[in-house]
Amino acid sequence: MKTYPQAYEPWLKALLPEVPSETLATCDQCAMVNPSGITRDPGPFLNHLKCCTYFPYLPNFSLGALTPEELNKAESRGIYLPVGLYPSMAEQDKISSFGAVGFGKRSELLCPFFDGVKNQCSIWAYRPGVCTSYFCKSTRGQQGLDFWKQVEDYLNQFEWTLACRVLETMNFNENTLSYCQAAMSEEIEPEERDFFIHEAWGEWISKKHEFYKDARKIALQITADELKIEPFAKSDRI
Ligand code: SF4
Ligand code: SF4
Repeated sequence: MKTYPQAYEPWLKALLPEVPSETLATCDQCAMVNPSGITRDPGPFLNHLKCCTYFPYLPNFSLGALTPEELNKAESRGIYLPVGLYPSMAEQDKISSFGAVGFGKRSELLCPFFDGVKNQCSIWAYRPGVCTSYFCKSTRGQQGLDFWKQVEDYLNQFEWTLACRVLETMNFNENTLSYCQAAMSEEIEPEERDFFIHEAWGEWISKKHEFYKDARKIALQITADELKIEPFAKSDRI
């Protein structure tokens, strides 16, 4: 069983271990509807929400694989930046207002990419590391849950490194990352946020979909060796 999204195979095949399947996380019949044993979150979750009451960061190179219709799903609730997609401030306020007790329980928090008709993720192959590494239960108990948290951290690091390398390769201004980070600050006024978003995008501001498609093409030309990411630490493996 792979520890990374299928779409990350070109970079992570040699860096992350495969592990036995997590048979206790029965996603089609969500195991957290009637939770028992050691679980990552307390539950119970609602079956039509599962663990997708979450707004994940998606890196630029994954966004390039989505259709304009798929990108539109997050338009009103997210902020699209050159480095990737983040939840908007209003979305973050909503997440904070529900707190941990909303996870798995509040439909307002459901991910924009969740397909309510099929009751599953609509971008499965391109879901980010945070989703791939989420297991509500592990056949290896707490040790397994700890392992998946380490995988999540590793995947976060990989996504950020490759997304930044893509910007570098596309000759984005050296201030782009600072503008992206400033645009996500909680401390600023809406006009300032608009300013930073505009500065971050530069000439791409009205061509975001084209940008993400190019970002994906560029990312696929960058090898794992060029990223200089250390393999997942051997001592962390189980
Ligand atoms: S990983 Fe998520 S969808 Fe799968 S069984 Fe656990 S809570 Fe349900
Ligand atoms: S991207 Fe997919 S797996 Fe991740 S939270 Fe959204 S719907 Fe769920």
